[in-house]
Amino acid sequence: MKNRKLLMIPGPTPVLRSIQDEMGRETVAFGDRGFVSDFQCLLEDLKNMWSCDGMAFVIAASGSFAMEMALVNTLKREDSLLIVSNGFFGDRFVEIAEKKGYDFDVLSAPWGEVVGAQEVADQLKKKKYAAVTVTHVDTSTGAVAPVREIGEVLQGYSDIIYIVDGVCSVAGEPVDMKKDHINVLFSGSQKAFGVAPGLALLWADRKSIERRKSIGEVMEYYADYQKWAPVMADTGKYFATPAINMIWAMKKAVEVIKEEGLDNRYERHRRNATAMRAALEAMGFSLLAGESCRAVTLSNALYPEGIEDGAFREELERQGVQVAGGLGAYAGKMFRLGHMGNVDEHELAATVCAIEKTLKTLSPSYELGAGITAFLKKLCGE
Ligand SMILES: *Cc1c(COP(=O)(O)O)cnc(C)c1O
Repeated sequence: MKNRKLLMIPGPTPVLRSIQDEMGRETVAFGDRGFVSDFQCLLEDLKNMWSCDGMAFVIAASGSFAMEMALVNTLKREDSLLIVSNGFFGDRFVEIAEKKGYDFDVLSAPWGEVVGAQEVADQLKKKKYAAVTVTHVDTSTGAVAPVREIGEVLQGYSDIIYIVDGVCSVAGEPVDMKKDHINVLFSGSQKAFGVAPGLALLWADRKSIERRKSIGEVMEYYADYQKWAPVMADTGKYFATPAINMIWAMKKAVEVIKEEGLDNRYERHRRNATAMRAALEAMGFSLLAGESCRAVTLSNALYPEGIEDGAFREELERQGVQVAGGLGAYAGKMFRLGHMGNVDEHELAATVCAIEKTLKTLSPSYELGAGITAFLKKLCGE
């Protein structure tokens, strides 16, 4: 009998049976009274849980669409944008900005490090920006940006809209629009929320909604806040058909989070990440992200001498665990392991064991047990 396949990539993450069941429900009309009220309920929860004083949008799309949506509802063509990039997904904002023809500048950090708040503060003194983007956790590196410190710097600039890409952080890494002074936050269903891919989530505070009104017509149709706003205010209205079953799944995922408690969920992510990092290091891997900026949602592990990427991931998959390869210059040099969302300790322990078996297969002199021992010791607070 083959091992059950564990999906340990940084999104999509494992989906709980209770959430899958929502996707399998009989589909109803988008005007169905029960659905309309479920959708409204979801939006209220999303706003409350992440302290949004404006509007939450839940739209059938992926995280990249939310990146585009955030920019096009914030900037006029002639506006300047400051992109804070710590890796592949930070650079995706550059691509969007180029395509849209915005004037933009980029502050970037070497992969595994993050741009600090002081660097942002220094840049803001040089030029007037309409918006700043920060990628909270760049999935290409596993590093977490100092979102709150940057938010505090931006407090001094009332004309700047602070946009945070929380696709690989929201519901795993602590983030709060009010405390972190964020104007636009967005995420996707398939990462720390533990839902299948298919929904873009975006929170726009009051200030960013005012900005949208002030920029007049935008070229985009599906991405325009103003097309969606009437629906998000009254979920019985129609603009484009909502992803009914996905919205139910998302609502269930939010119920799961409320049941656990957001703070408990953050603490669980922190504990699991600490244990997983200890295990990886004990097995001979080193972590790409610097010690001071390691995300709790995933770990990007550089291979020890003599372990080849293709052979490692193929053997690990045979053992029943799927991880992701490195991106950019790190392709072939590391693997990316998601430990966010609704993964539990059983799944994490099984993952560590499967990595050990894989190392043993590829390198017979490998001493079994180092990883799982380090994992358990951390988990048990030793
Ligand atoms: C995954 C990811 C995205 C892109 O999301 P898609 O759903 O793949 O379009 C954007 N930003 C970050 C930080 C991500 O991790």
